[in-house]
Amino acid sequence: MRKKIVAGNWKMNKTLQEGLTFSTELKELLNNKTINCEVVVGTPFIHLSEVSKAFKGTKVHVAAQNCANKESGAYTGEISAAMVASTGANHVILGHSERRAYYNETPELLKEKVVVALANNLTPIFCVGEVLEERESGKHFEVVAAQLKDSLFELSKEDFSKLVIAYEPVWAIGTGKTASADQAQEIHAFIRETLTEKYGKEVADNTSILYGGSCNAGNAKELFSNPDVDGGLIGGASLEADKFLPIIEAFN
Ligand code: PEP
Repeated sequence: MRKKIVAGNWKMNKTLQEGLTFSTELKELLNNKTINCEVVVGTPFIHLSEVSKAFKGTKVHVAAQNCANKESGAYTGEISAAMVASTGANHVILGHSERRAYYNETPELLKEKVVVALANNLTPIFCVGEVLEERESGKHFEVVAAQLKDSLFELSKEDFSKLVIAYEPVWAIGTGKTASADQAQEIHAFIRETLTEKYGKEVADNTSILYGGSCNAGNAKELFSNPDVDGGLIGGASLEADKFLPIIEAFN
């Protein structure tokens, strides 16, 4: 059965010291608690090693927010998937709409990133989602299907099975406007149907599909109670341990 996952994305927030304070706080809050989902904390690159150490021996996994599309070499300023893996992190967020929009990450580039991430045993959390005009003109289904197809559908069944998908409507990210539970369920079911067509029912049923976009302690339970919503990718509400905890506990 597919995993329930709550993953945080700090984006470009927190100094190393602030990141370690968060890690200590979350560890204390989770101590002796029953947790019914996998927890992932997505930090900037420079935090990965220390935050991984801080969560060693706990059930909290650590994610990078990006990685290079090349294995190694003369790519000044880039961080490879092997480097990420060497820190103890085991996930990587790829295709976030901010990377697509501000850093011109194309479907082709993301396809390469997914391949190197998998080759280095990182679990990609692959983000898809439409902008407001696409939602308003009813194009969200075709946009999301194209994002999946263009970056992922050359993967073998075995490799695809290692991915986590995050549906993040761009109009809901950081805006305080959340997709309704019905809107989330509708498109998550569509994503699962698209995966079924391509990879079969077993793979589709085992793929975790997370919702992201202004998810918080107040709406997580309702969103996660949908049959095809397997958890969340959380930005703003993952920055403070005591705000992140109730989202994790939405599965209790
Ligand atoms: C995100 O950036 O992945 C995200 C979902 O952000 P927020 O929760 O702040 O909308």
